[in-house]
Amino acid sequence: MKKRLLIANRSEIAIRIIRSAHKLGLLAVVFQSDKEPDALYLKYADEIIPARDAANDKPIFLDAERIVKFALEHNIDLIHPGYGFLSENPDFAALCVANDINFIGPSPELIRDMGLKTVAKSMAIKAGLPLVPGSDGPVTDAKSAKEYADKIGYPVILKASAGGGGRGMRIVEKPETIERNFKSASDEALSAFGNGDMFIEKYLQNPKHIEFQIMGDKHGNVIHLGERECSLQRKHQKILEEAPSASVSATMRQEMGDMAVRFAKSIGYYSAGTIEYILDEDGSFYFMEMNTRIQVEHPVTEMITGVDLVDWQIKVALGEKLTIKQEDIKINGWAIECRVNTEDPQNRFSPQTGFIDRIHFPLSENIRIETGVVSGSVVTPYFDSMIAKIIVHGKDRADVIEKTLFALYEFSLIGLKTTVPFCRAVLNHSEFLSAKYTTRWVDQVYDPEMLENEEDEMIGALAATIMYASEYLQLSSDTPTYKSDSLNVWVLNKRLNY
Ligand code: ADP
Ligand code: ADP
Ligand code: MG
Repeated sequence: MKKRLLIANRSEIAIRIIRSAHKLGLLAVVFQSDKEPDALYLKYADEIIPARDAANDKPIFLDAERIVKFALEHNIDLIHPGYGFLSENPDFAALCVANDINFIGPSPELIRDMGLKTVAKSMAIKAGLPLVPGSDGPVTDAKSAKEYADKIGYPVILKASAGGGGRGMRIVEKPETIERNFKSASDEALSAFGNGDMFIEKYLQNPKHIEFQIMGDKHGNVIHLGERECSLQRKHQKILEEAPSASVSATMRQEMGDMAVRFAKSIGYYSAGTIEYILDEDGSFYFMEMNTRIQVEHPVTEMITGVDLVDWQIKVALGEKLTIKQEDIKINGWAIECRVNTEDPQNRFSPQTGFIDRIHFPLSENIRIETGVVSGSVVTPYFDSMIAKIIVHGKDRADVIEKTLFALYEFSLIGLKTTVPFCRAVLNHSEFLSAKYTTRWVDQVYDPEMLENEEDEMIGALAATIMYASEYLQLSSDTPTYKSDSLNVWVLNKRLNY
């Protein structure tokens, strides 16, 4: 009998997990939310559980009790949480374990420990990892926050211990605003994460975000699969990632990677995980946090190592031993991932909702597309705005940048604005080309003026449609029913130039 894997997630990552499930001979079961009843991932699943969200106060992907109840009714052996939603929720993992369902991830205890950044940091100190100067434990009130900050010097960053997804953080430049910021961040953390604990770190002015992928099994083996650079962020959220990082030398890679492995081993970690470091301008690096799940940007690591991380997550959960040794991991070439979010980069990245009239992805042997949508899909306001990831592999950094630019040029979406023009602007920018970009790039350098004017293209396309329609109707009056076909718009748009 085939084992039954339930995916407690949606969109591209659900499809990604189904692919691994099928490769390993498992049956893939998914939820159908009535917020997106004809989502693409449903097409690939072996079984669909209608979640009937409208009749419940929480959407299924955030409702641990209902997920487990369904899992028991449907004889589920394993649950993969994907990323976001309940993927780093220790109560959810514990509920699965308590009901004899194999949760694909580390132990609930470690998810809990790593989910509290202050706890994670104290465990990292024990394993000898360097930390950003700051408060060692939680800071309980605004007054002690100020005392602390006065001691380490401004600017500082206030962080929610239980935070994630860039929320519950405040950068404080001067003493006068620290108490107010403390209160608002702590309130935000309390309502978002049910925990208002805060801590303080020295705010590094121009850092890079470097993270190491690790994989461990239940027999004490842990390896790392090199680093990813995720410095390109907006509001502390990643937009474009690359692997390896041009700012990490072979010696640094070994040092940071060994440290990540040592830390994971010291806490008894298994499954996929990410050790996030912050790299300062002077080359010092510090442990920031650990993510206890598969990450959005995992494909860039897969592209350069040839290791399937989701396969290994499942195999490890089933008790298999890691057969890959550290010395087997070879970094081959360079990879870039561009997140395609339906957000308008011209207009402060405001979310775009509605129909994807037409979508076309570039095709080539160096390109990997992970997406949850097709032409005709609807983007609703209920979920994350990431609809696809375009991942490109090249023989070196210059090669992958060039190939990614071609890929983005060939991408086309009619109906909604996306972050693709933004990614193009990034890839064309001198600071990206020289790999000097930092986490401040979007704040300090980005200007919507850098975008090629998509607006003109759309207006041109519309004008072309109208012209074509009138021309068409005149030429063939026996065919009165002209139906606008937006794909033709591209052809028509070009014809305008003749
Ligand atoms: P990654 O490190 O994998 O890139 P992100 O920080 O981008 O992870 O988070 C992955 C997804 O999960 C994103 O869609 C993000 O919006 C969502 N997410 C992460 N943490 C939280 C959280 N605490 N609450 C809500 N959504 C979150
Ligand atoms: P999250 O759980 O939201 O991912 P992190 O602690 O990983 O929170 O921080 C998210 C981002 O915030 C980092 O990738 C980095 O860009 C920025 N950041 C975090 N700590 C610092 C710091 N001490 N100095 C400067 N930037 C920081
Ligand atoms: Mg982080």
